[in-house]
Amino acid sequence: MTPPHLPAPTPDPAPAGDFAGDFAGVFGPVPALDGELCFDAGSLDAASTDFGGLVRQPPAAVLRPGSAEDVAAMVRHCRARGLKVAGRGQGHSTNGQAQVASGLVVDLGTLDSVEIRDDGTAVVQSGVRWSTLVRASLARGLTPPAFTDYLELSIGGTLSAGGLGGQIGHHGTQVDNVLELQVVTGEGELTTCSPTVRPDLFHAVLGGLGQCAIITRATLALVPAPRSVRLYTLAAPSLAALTAQQAALIGEGRFDYLVGQAHTPSPEGWSYMIEAAAYDGTAADDARLIGDLDHTAVEVRDLPYFDFLNRIAPMVEVFESMGEWRRPHPWFDSLLPASAVDSVVSETLATLKGGSVGASAVVLLYPVLTAKCATPLPVMPDEELAYLFSLLKTASPGADSAEEMVAANRRQYDATLAVGGRWYPIGSVPLTTDDWVRHFGPFWDEFKAARHRYDPDGILTPGQRIF
Ligand SMILES: Cc1cc2nc3c(=O)[nH]c(=O)nc-3n(C[C@H](O)[C@H](O)[C@H](O)COP(=O)(O)OP(=O)(O)OC[C@H]3O[C@@H](n4cnc5c(N)ncnc54)[C@H](O)[C@@H]3O)c2cc1C
Repeated sequence: MTPPHLPAPTPDPAPAGDFAGDFAGVFGPVPALDGELCFDAGSLDAASTDFGGLVRQPPAAVLRPGSAEDVAAMVRHCRARGLKVAGRGQGHSTNGQAQVASGLVVDLGTLDSVEIRDDGTAVVQSGVRWSTLVRASLARGLTPPAFTDYLELSIGGTLSAGGLGGQIGHHGTQVDNVLELQVVTGEGELTTCSPTVRPDLFHAVLGGLGQCAIITRATLALVPAPRSVRLYTLAAPSLAALTAQQAALIGEGRFDYLVGQAHTPSPEGWSYMIEAAAYDGTAADDARLIGDLDHTAVEVRDLPYFDFLNRIAPMVEVFESMGEWRRPHPWFDSLLPASAVDSVVSETLATLKGGSVGASAVVLLYPVLTAKCATPLPVMPDEELAYLFSLLKTASPGADSAEEMVAANRRQYDATLAVGGRWYPIGSVPLTTDDWVRHFGPFWDEFKAARHRYDPDGILTPGQRIF
């Protein structure tokens, strides 16, 4: 096995002989299942790595559940045999978060049913991708209110992290729009929870990084879907202009969607861009929407709603064709309080060269109204306005090595915490338990108590390295 944190951009194929026989023995006689328990080299190899390509840990088996009951039966079985278990959605983690060395990975992709109910809610199994859900809901004129930038992530995967995107100023995060969950706890209990039924479990699972339960199904709020979107891309004259305008715009709720980016340095330095969208906006709205904004250039596009949501898909194709999509991705994601955003971002960008972030890097700056993010996790900075600041790095040929990028992430983590910021825990930062205690801050005691209550033997999701 490659030790954690060594990049393995092109993982070695797993030797079939090493896996099949030995690991089947670890599990002993397993319960009858609706789905299948896989020991083949292909299944184990696929579950050994992730989008980050930094950590490689082969599991002993992969469960492709045919039902939520399968997940519960195998969690009970693993618990009795002292084996660890993790759910895996689309494996878009960047630091081994969905991996389990010599344990069981539950590939939730087979839990893939979607039901759009007449009461305007969606009941989805956790392996469903957001792209599948929104296609189904749009057929009924409805949409989930909050999205991530990339739609090919699983419902269970983003609900375990938080799910932040450009609709946050109106609708909060994805976890703020969950009505009920069906989960399997670390004791193997299949149960439901909601804000009123077992709320401690509900709140420890949403944004809870798989530490207390595996989500098997979610009931989600839907809202009427717009038909088209008018998308403005505005060049901001400076970082300070970008953050000040985002603060004003999100405060007054002028746009339905609001994000921003810093573009990798050219000889002239960094450039800044705001993306702001008005649902069902028209040309007649332009003067009201952008007439008073300080910008040096603007591009206006009208897009069908789904194409708007899915608009990074063509960029992903380009990255795939460049080979960048398969290279190591030592990502860093943070939530900065508004009071520190300009200083931290400008200091960070001043030290970044193209090689520090790679050929296909993206630097995100999204405003976040913390009051809209009412679910306790993910942990937010203690100010009304915060900013998601993400350095989406790729260890491209000729750029810094993946190890250098991970080391830089660790320094960035310390700088973030020092100003009252929080890590958005989806990226690649080596953390100790003490770091996690600092990260969770006032929520740590409750989170730890929930972990002991619902996963007393500590078998769930070791790849997060929290406990
Ligand atoms: C290209 C790209 C774009 C992204 N954009 C955004 C964005 O805009 N906003 C944002 O917030 N995030 C974004 N992310 C991060 C993403 O939301 C998280 O990494 C998410 O966890 C990935 O979902 P997944 O299905 O791939 O989960 P996996 O990587 O498979 O799993 C992630 C973690 O969740 C656990 N898990 C997975 N499924 C379940 C389940 N059903 N029950 C319990 N635990 C489970 C796993 O064990 C693991 O610990 C992006 C990631 C990528 C690669």
